[in-house]
Amino acid sequence: MSSVCLRHTDRETDIRCAACLRPICEECVVLGPGNSRFCSQECADNAQKSSERFSDMTRRDEEALHAARRAAFSRLVILLLFLIVLGFGLYAAWPHLPANLTGPVESWFDQVRNLKLD
Ligand SMILES: [Zn+2]
Ligand SMILES: [Zn+2]
Repeated sequence: MSSVCLRHTDRETDIRCAACLRPICEECVVLGPGNSRFCSQECADNAQKSSERFSDMTRRDEEALHAARRAAFSRLVILLLFLIVLGFGLYAAWPHLPANLTGPVESWFDQVRNLKLD
């Protein structure tokens, strides 16, 4: 659907301002960021400002996301190290642990082994 230009009411146009969506003709077009077409410098400036604010926001979001990922990753590493140390400690201490503690676990392991063999 075509409309007439904001300033030249005798000219039909399909172009609309990227900010305020008012119809404008080729002659009235003001090029803004990303080759978008605007009706005025004011609209172009507004779009520029809001796009700057937007990229600012996404950059901050990305930084927060990266920080959260790094924190989650280091927590995972610490947990893994803890499990490895615990595993080795348990493995080294196993023969010295009282039989009433190791017995049930070993019989449980035997059961698992038998299950796998079946
Ligand atoms: Zn406009
Ligand atoms: Zn015009």
